Amino acid sequence: VAKERGKDDYQKYLPTLRTKRDEKLSIEKRVRVAIAQKSFQVYYQPQIDLREKRVVGLEALLRWTDKKLGVISPSVFIPIAEESGLISSIGDWVLEEACLQAKKWSEKGFTMRMGINISPIQFQRPDFVSKVKSILRDTGLNPQLLDLEITENVLLYNREECAKTLTRLKELGIQISIDDFGTGYSSLSYLRQFPIDTLKIDKSFILEVLDNSNDQAIVTSIIQLAHNMNMRVIAEGVESTEMIPFLNDRECDEMQGFLYSKPLPANEVTSFVAKTEPSIVF
Ligand code: C2E
Ligand code: MG
Ligand code: MG
Ligand code: MG
Repeated sequence: VAKERGKDDYQKYLPTLRTKRDEKLSIEKRVRVAIAQKSFQVYYQPQIDLREKRVVGLEALLRWTDKKLGVISPSVFIPIAEESGLISSIGDWVLEEACLQAKKWSEKGFTMRMGINISPIQFQRPDFVSKVKSILRDTGLNPQLLDLEITENVLLYNREECAKTLTRLKELGIQISIDDFGTGYSSLSYLRQFPIDTLKIDKSFILEVLDNSNDQAIVTSIIQLAHNMNMRVIAEGVESTEMIPFLNDRECDEMQGFLYSKPLPANEVTSFVAKTEPSIVF
């Protein structure tokens, strides 16, 4: 097959490969600059309790506009930061920033659970638990308000260490969520071995759930699974009102998505929630 494709293809592919590599390197360089200059931002996306019809949590999501490269999505720069080892300093910064923000808000009476994405590399560092502990101590945030989001695949790797880390985190009084649930490789038997509070159904199952009977079966099963194991369940990627009856019929606990709000900069969160929360009807 390689022969058939011939030389032309080879020459066609090589430059694009090179460009990809160059692009990665230049993003990596700029990530270093952004870390040094603290030019990342954290946005917050509300999570809504479907029974109470009010905002109960926020997810912290990184945003980055580089002076040279423009807006770069976390789905682009996080993997690059993971490969180059830069994720730990970014991750530590997000933890501090979001915990401090949650503490400030709770002092003003805006008490919200704060969800923070944790990269597998960050989670597996030997000093991760002590880092979380010292951030909780320094910020004074109620540990019950902190919700760390890890992905399923973290559970697969070095299972014993992982269980230990999770147990130590639970001893601090914080919550653990499994992000993008359903997209990883973990088998269900893994789940019960770990102290997990919440499953977040990946948005790829939610986005077209009303038109796709397979997605319906998957979402229905995940909600049941979560409840049977005494876990909370959040639907990610809820974009339309029509999805609400579907989720309510299945007693999904919470939802997060553009229907209520996209991620917001810190200074817009409280006023947005104050203005829109009273009119959540669905
Ligand atoms: P995630 O943790 O699964 O975050 C949810 C993503 O879905 C966010 O994308 C959010 O903006 C997007 N989203 C929310 N509602 C909707 C919706 O209704 N429709 C659609 N189509 N999308 C929706 P974002 O902010 O681009 O982040 C992408 C991923 O980057 C995150 O996925 C997370 O894995 C990673 N990430 C973001 N911030 C951090 C961070 O601080 N640390 C780490 N380690 N990863 C992060
Ligand atoms: Mg997340
Ligand atoms: Mg994620
Ligand atoms: Mg997700």
